[in-house]
Amino acid sequence: MSDHGGNGSRPCVLVLGGGFAGIGAAQKLRNSDVDVVLVDKRDYHTFQPLLYQVATGLLSPPAVGHPIRDLFHKQSNIRIRQDEVTSIDLDARQAHFGEVEPVTYDYLVLALGAEVNFFGVDGAAEHAFPLYTLADAVRLKDHVLERWESADRERRRAEDGALNMVVVGGGPTGVETAGAMAELYNGDFRKDYPEMSADKARIVLVEASPEIFAMFKPDIRSYTAKALEDRGVEVMTGEVVESVTPERVTLKSGTVLSAHTLVWGAGLQGNALIRSLGLELGRGNRIAVDGLLRIPSHPEVYAVGDIAAITDAKTEQVLPQLGSVALQSGEHAGETIAKMVAGKETKSFHYRDKGTMATIGRGSAVVQMLGGKTIKGKHAQLAWGTVHLALLPTNQDRAEAVVNWAGAALTHQRSGRIRLEEEITPG
Ligand SMILES: Cc1cc2nc3c(=O)[nH]c(=O)nc-3n(C[C@H](O)[C@H](O)[C@H](O)COP(=O)(O)OP(=O)(O)OC[C@H]3O[C@@H](n4cnc5c(N)ncnc54)[C@H](O)[C@@H]3O)c2cc1C
Repeated sequence: MSDHGGNGSRPCVLVLGGGFAGIGAAQKLRNSDVDVVLVDKRDYHTFQPLLYQVATGLLSPPAVGHPIRDLFHKQSNIRIRQDEVTSIDLDARQAHFGEVEPVTYDYLVLALGAEVNFFGVDGAAEHAFPLYTLADAVRLKDHVLERWESADRERRRAEDGALNMVVVGGGPTGVETAGAMAELYNGDFRKDYPEMSADKARIVLVEASPEIFAMFKPDIRSYTAKALEDRGVEVMTGEVVESVTPERVTLKSGTVLSAHTLVWGAGLQGNALIRSLGLELGRGNRIAVDGLLRIPSHPEVYAVGDIAAITDAKTEQVLPQLGSVALQSGEHAGETIAKMVAGKETKSFHYRDKGTMATIGRGSAVVQMLGGKTIKGKHAQLAWGTVHLALLPTNQDRAEAVVNWAGAALTHQRSGRIRLEEEITPG
């Protein structure tokens, strides 16, 4: 039984996930003669590239979470439902949810994103701080603030590693977080806690490969290593985390780091739901798609964004899990469905490369294009700003981001460094 809120006479397009990919697909169907149903377990769209700025108090949560309903006020053919997708029956063309009635679809857009992979490391799921959702970012920020206040009340906690932080993963998430945390530590925290000695607040970036930023060219790798060093981040390469407790991180080499905070930026895997579909999955549990971004065995199903393994037509490489890949692939799926419904010709997906990029800190960023060209420093930061502004969902968000970023660049103020919790946490 289908309950998609439409008139039942036109095709139903079910979009699962309201990230860059799902939003892009749904918006491209606005003028199509279809009923669109978009389901997300959250009532907001998350702008993941700026989560680390929430975690370091530079931005407040609403700056990176936009109400999904707000994005569709002018689209009359869509119904939004906030609910958890619990299962999908690809043969019956039906999706099931926590509370909402099952929806039978004519077209399905799978845009459920990825999730954190702890690789079975002992204690990581319980004690590490991942940085994948807005709730993760707020949790990490609150924890760090709480540890500093706690050490300020009782100095021996600093001796025990209360201010030390281990960041696992030398990819963009780990590097950006380590760089931003170092700026918070060296900037506002120096002034907030003048009696706290700098050597009691280490930030250590741990990476299993011989070098950080393995996906980047050597010039970017050495630039990044120097930029982190300048900010006081200690980089440990060729080291693997073996186990985690709330106050200690043990490496396979036997080294034990005293740190009350472990940020997990080490890996992602396809959404758990995808693993239950009985499909053949590629590296990172991503779904392989054809040139139109469809699952070959179920051509009415499109997989886009982080859950999809999309092979680039030009380079024949699987595209990275990036916001611009998610947005463009989602939009292409929406356009393709609209064309099919209208009986028009479709064309294969071609990614317009925006570069893989990361910001290490103020004035320090890197960009690498698919063809191999690299940019570093202030120009890269400008490119980062331009690409990420384009990913923001509305013009109002863009205007606010420009004000926030310009304000932060001028004042270096991290006014979001407060906790809403009023109680003092003992210990
Ligand atoms: C910390 C971090 C930093 C990043 N930095 C950058 C960057 O600088 N530049 C860049 O281009 N990319 C960056 N990325 C990658 C980029 O954010 C992702 O590639 C992009 O968000 C993927 O979009 P998506 O729509 O596929 O998935 P998502 O954005 O993850 O959206 C998936 C949606 O599905 C919903 N969902 C999941 N499971 C269910 C369920 N069972 N039921 C209902 N709803 C569900 C989720 O709530 C979510 O809204 C970063 C990612 C992270 C984590």
